[in-house]
Amino acid sequence: MSKVSILDKTFEIYLSNTQIQERINQIGRAISDEFHGDELIIVGVLNGSFLFMADLVRRIELNFVCDFIKVSSYQGTESTGQVKSLLGLKESIEGKSVLIIEDIVDSGLSMEYLLKELSSHRPKRLAIATLLFKREAFRHKYAIDYVGFEIPNKFVVGYGLDYDGLGRNLPHIYQLTTP
Ligand code: 5GP
Ligand code: MG
Ligand code: MG
Repeated sequence: MSKVSILDKTFEIYLSNTQIQERINQIGRAISDEFHGDELIIVGVLNGSFLFMADLVRRIELNFVCDFIKVSSYQGTESTGQVKSLLGLKESIEGKSVLIIEDIVDSGLSMEYLLKELSSHRPKRLAIATLLFKREAFRHKYAIDYVGFEIPNKFVVGYGLDYDGLGRNLPHIYQLTTP
């Protein structure tokens, strides 16, 4: 499928599942090298990261704990939601290496919030792996350790990412068509 329709929008293919898997293989190898010997917790940020996390952790040849968190936002009248709270981390991260798994870093606000929250629990190290990064939209200073793909500032769906709750199951990543 090179085009898909979801609700009122049309999307065209942007990254195939094959391209995604090849990149995940590379990142998985790099993470396996870098965190060798560490006490590692890999924390997926729900919901969007669930497919990336599932594929990535199977490419990391280490022993580690997997956990998940969810960030909830205010549903205000503004288009950009304020990050409100962090739900669900079960593991103690104090003194451990933590790798945060995100689907996409856009303005970087959500990740900024996560870094602040998680660092208050005093991990030994906090690292970030995001499948997608919109560098042009990024408004923060922190380093992102692993980026799958830098993408232009256009809306994407598929492979975990949604449009109004739909499209997460698409195996490829699709970009909004420009009318
Ligand atoms: P932030 O601006 O805080 O970096 O990103 C906020 C959230 O907006 C992301 O976690 C993601 O859920 C959503 N988001 C940003 N860009 C896109 C996009 O292109 N497609 C989808 N589906 N979600 C996006
Ligand atoms: Mg996300
Ligand atoms: Mg979303």
